[in-house]
Amino acid sequence: MIPAPTAPSVAAVVRLSRRAMADGREIIYYDEPGAAPRVAVDRRELGPRAQAGDLRFDALTGDWVSIAGHRSDRTFLPPADACPLCPTGRGSVPSEVPESDYDVVVFENRFPSFATRTDASQGALGQAAAADMVDRAELHLHRPAAGRCEVVAFTSDHEANIASLPPQRVRTVIEAWAHRTSELSTRAEVEHVFCFENRGVEIGVTLHHPHGQIYAYPDLPARTLGMLTRARQHHESTGRVLGADLLAIERTTGTRMVLEGEHWSAYVPFAARWPVEVHLVPHRDVPDLAALTAAERDELAHIYPELLGRLDRYYPAVAGQPIRMPYIAAWHQAPVRTGREVSRLHLQVFSVLRSPDRLKYLAGSESGAGAWVNDVAPESIARRLREVGS
Ligand SMILES: [Zn+2]
Repeated sequence: MIPAPTAPSVAAVVRLSRRAMADGREIIYYDEPGAAPRVAVDRRELGPRAQAGDLRFDALTGDWVSIAGHRSDRTFLPPADACPLCPTGRGSVPSEVPESDYDVVVFENRFPSFATRTDASQGALGQAAAADMVDRAELHLHRPAAGRCEVVAFTSDHEANIASLPPQRVRTVIEAWAHRTSELSTRAEVEHVFCFENRGVEIGVTLHHPHGQIYAYPDLPARTLGMLTRARQHHESTGRVLGADLLAIERTTGTRMVLEGEHWSAYVPFAARWPVEVHLVPHRDVPDLAALTAAERDELAHIYPELLGRLDRYYPAVAGQPIRMPYIAAWHQAPVRTGREVSRLHLQVFSVLRSPDRLKYLAGSESGAGAWVNDVAPESIARRLREVGS
C-alpha cells in the first residue's frame, strides 16, 4: 500500500582514525574508501578542558539535573568563516577539526554537559557516598556530572544536510553512531547513550554546520526511564515487546503509516504530542544502533534521508522559498545495563513548527504540568507526510 523506498546496498567499509585535540580531547575520523590519511596536528592554544559540572537530584520529581555553568560561554552562531566544524583552512581561524577535509568526524564536546574529567575539589559526592546518603534519606544529593558529550559532524560541507547527503555518507554516519554507542556503552560511568540532532534556530541550534550530538549519561533520563517502565509493564502482562506490538497495530491500521520498507517503517504515533512528529522503527527487536545488521543499516541510509526530505516538503513553499523544517531527531536506545530484552530502538523526529510561521511553545500545561496538548491530529500529520512523498 505504501511504496517502499528503493534501497540498493551501500558499501560499508569505514576507516577509523583516532587522534587527540590540542587540549587532549579525543577526535575520531570515520572515512570512506579513498580518503586521505588523517594525521593533521591540532596546533591551537586551548585553555584547560572543562571539568564535569554538578549533577543534582531533584527530590520532588526524582530527576537528575546537570548544572553546567561553563556552557554559558559556548560558541553561539559564529559567522560562517569561523565555523568550528568546518575543516581547518576553510575559514579565518583553525577549527575544531585540524584536517583540511573529512567524511564524518566525532569529537568530544568542548563545552560538555557531562564530562569525563571531574574535579575532586568541587566536593561533589561519588556514587558510593550518594548511595549512602540515600540510606540516610538526605534530599540534596549531588555528584559530578560524569559522562561524555560528543559532536558528530555529518559532512565537511557547511551547507549540506542529512536529506541532501548521498546514501553512502548517511551510511557512514550510521556506522559512527553504532560505533560510538558500542564504545560508550563499555564505560563504567555510562548508563545510557543518546544520539540526536537538533536542526534549525527555532530549536535553539547554536551552529549551522550539519551535525548531531551524542550524550552518554550517568543515569537514565526521565523519558528513557518512563519508556522502560512502560515496556516492562507490557512485557510482564503480555510476554511481548511493546515496540513490536505498537508497530503491528500501526501496520494493520494503516492510517498513521508513512513509509514501509523491508527492515524499517515510519509512522506517526497514536498519541503524537508535537504538531509534526514521526517515528522510524526497525521491524526486528533491536535494542540499539550497534545491534543493527548490515542490511538494516543499508536501508536506514536510504529511508532516513527520505523521511527528513518529506519534512522539508511538509509545508508548501512561501514566496518561492521552501520551508526547511526545524526538527529534533532523537534515537531512543535501550539502556546500557538494564531492560535490553524489552526495550526497542526507535527514532523520534519532531518539530515545533505548527505552521510555516508559527511555533508551538511549551507553555503552562506542557512545561508546568507536563500535560501535553496537540492541536494537530496524528492522522493528519501522517496523511501530509504520505502526500509529500517523492
Ligand atoms: Zn561549517
